[in-house]
Amino acid sequence: MIDTPSLRVLILDDEPFMLKLLAHQLTILGFSEIITCENGFAALAVIDASGPAIGLVVCDLSMPEMDGVEFIRHLVARDFQGALILASGVDIRILQAAEQLVKAHGMTLLGVLQKPVSPQSLKLLLEQSLPSLPRNHIRSRAVFTAPEIRDAIDDKQFINYYQPKVGVPGGELLGVEALVRWKHPISGLIYPDQFIAEAESHGLIDVLTNLVLANALSDAAAWRCSGLALPVSVNISMDSMSDLDFPDRVAQLAADAGVTSGDMVLEITESRVARDARTALDVLTRLRLKGFSLSIDDFGTGHSSMAQLRDLPFNQMKIDRSFVHGAHGNSTTRAIYTSSLAMGKELNLDIVAEGVETFADWTFLTRTGCHVAQGFFIARPMPTEELPNWLMAWDDRVLRELSNPIEAEAE
Ligand code: C2E
Ligand code: CA
Ligand code: CA
Repeated sequence: MIDTPSLRVLILDDEPFMLKLLAHQLTILGFSEIITCENGFAALAVIDASGPAIGLVVCDLSMPEMDGVEFIRHLVARDFQGALILASGVDIRILQAAEQLVKAHGMTLLGVLQKPVSPQSLKLLLEQSLPSLPRNHIRSRAVFTAPEIRDAIDDKQFINYYQPKVGVPGGELLGVEALVRWKHPISGLIYPDQFIAEAESHGLIDVLTNLVLANALSDAAAWRCSGLALPVSVNISMDSMSDLDFPDRVAQLAADAGVTSGDMVLEITESRVARDARTALDVLTRLRLKGFSLSIDDFGTGHSSMAQLRDLPFNQMKIDRSFVHGAHGNSTTRAIYTSSLAMGKELNLDIVAEGVETFADWTFLTRTGCHVAQGFFIARPMPTEELPNWLMAWDDRVLRELSNPIEAEAE
């Protein structure tokens, strides 16, 4: 059962049978407050009446009076802060376009479900997406101001969680990615989507990156002391590539911690176009000369694309999770995954598939020859002290479940 007793759910679908079915499935999963509506007008009336209390909307797309896209537009106009699941029988390409639209509106999309919705797929989606959703995200998105973020950096309220990367098919631990979390004294654990963009737009990202790097390096030094020489990846915003001193600073920090540059990967995400392409090229080239690995993050999305690969000295590619999870069953995402993989191989890059959430995703990687995996199937990001226990449990799982995938799949 899913631990969300307080989450109020609204289901919108023009087919009464679907409403009953989804409501029934959600009840079994532990949701106690469920409201069903047969058309968009009724749903909006409920939302207007109950304000921020609706935490999740499960929405059909094709409906006669007001279709799902129109309904989403009305939700945006109301500044709806809850999360959304799209469930529809339409062509997967249309469903994916609607998914992009929801994301473009900045809404929290838990996922899409193709009808007929099976109880297993709904359960899986909720189990995987709800725990990673900050609690305050569901109710009302906390907005943190730049001064608050600055104070928290000064106060060292940011800590690193680590998510393992493992070899496919053998499961050997190859490294970890540092993912920053804000231990807020009042709001609890805050995820990066609630402060990175704000930090970037207020010139705070460099100090935050420094803190993340320092924490990652001291953790890496501690792992090495305990016999675990683990390469660590750190996310670096493209904004930091406009600082010509960045390579020297990172090299100094690494040297101080006794970590060699070969054990560090810098994952670069381009949330926006580099302000000055020449400076970025200067910085990235010098980082590679100093021996750091450079990874192009979220490959296949937004600006993380082929032009970047052509122009910048990356030696690792992370295929975005939207082209990995479920790719075995979706011809569109599979096509993008397969061509990214082929391109990465052609360019001699190390390739990491993100978003490996299920056993089916894992076996898909083994079949397609992608040799590094990261994702919830292997582990969620965790505090450094949880790594040793995870590793023992994982080794065990590899032996029991993954060393003979054919047998495990048949079970
Ligand atoms: P990212 O670099 O793509 O990191 C992976 C994100 O996907 C993480 O979210 C991780 O928890 C999540 N994830 C991992 N495996 C799975 C999976 O199997 N399924 C799904 N659905 N999600 C998975 P997180 O920690 O919330 O971080 C979000 C983004 O924030 C990161 O995306 C990265 O771009 C940014 N970020 C995180 N830490 C830092 C940092 O220290 N500096 C900068 N500049 N950005 C950071
Ligand atoms: Ca990353
Ligand atoms: Ca990514």
